[in-house]
Amino acid sequence: MAGAATATLAPTTLLASCAPKQEAKKGTDTPLNLCFQEGVTPGDTLQEKLDFIESLGVTGFEVGGRGLAGRVDEITNALKGRNIRMGAICAGFDGFILAEDEQKDRFDTTMREIIEAAGKVNSCGVIMVPAFNGQTPCRPHTMDTRNYLCEELHKLGEFALENNTTVILEPLNRGECFYMRLVADAAAIARDADSKGVKCMGDFWHMKEETSDYAAFMAAGTEYLQHVHIASRGRRLVPGEDGEKDDYRDGFRALKELGYPGFVSFECGCEGDRKTVLTNAVQLLRQQWEEA
Ligand code: MG
Repeated sequence: MAGAATATLAPTTLLASCAPKQEAKKGTDTPLNLCFQEGVTPGDTLQEKLDFIESLGVTGFEVGGRGLAGRVDEITNALKGRNIRMGAICAGFDGFILAEDEQKDRFDTTMREIIEAAGKVNSCGVIMVPAFNGQTPCRPHTMDTRNYLCEELHKLGEFALENNTTVILEPLNRGECFYMRLVADAAAIARDADSKGVKCMGDFWHMKEETSDYAAFMAAGTEYLQHVHIASRGRRLVPGEDGEKDDYRDGFRALKELGYPGFVSFECGCEGDRKTVLTNAVQLLRQQWEEA
């Protein structure tokens, strides 16, 4: 199917200087890998949720990190024989990495437990925010603190690599995390942490602060971009529930050009009938991906 699309779209009559670059041509073949968070997915049991995901041809599943160590067998068994892989693990640790008190110790202990479990369920990484605006007592926002953050992330990233997974920084917005609100911010911190186990992600909801979704993803590139979250762009519901606001094509174009191999994962509320709006959303995103 993708091959046929490429053949149809091949710009054989364009001047050489106008022709898309090789990477862009490759981009048309990049598949859209969709993923649902557990809480977004309808179903009373894990099996029912995975059945629903599979029925839509969605191939990723994302869970919270809290209690993950006790769910490794449950999740591994539930995924057996299905065309569904684990996506990222969403936070779930106690404390925070920039805490000035014992919350830092609690972060270290619980985050490492989650990283170990994430590796066992073959997750691409554990999502984290270094500190939300309101978390106290927090190290002051100085250059020393940034250096400290990079050093601590380096250790965490190396630990994650030993467990065949990564740590994924999630930029938010100025109301929640003023110092890491752009995808490029998170990518730069990941780079400076100097560990291949430290990555970043973009969340279309928080990316309202970006001036360009395309530039945001390109700034991270495939070296750092490990995961993507998506929601409707007006009220953080299921994509499509905010009508024309829910245009993701600018960001999708970057993901396609990058050959982004990761997931675009639903992290959102829901206003309508869950099964109906999720089914429609999958269709909408596949259409926008084609158009991007
Ligand atoms: Mg998110």
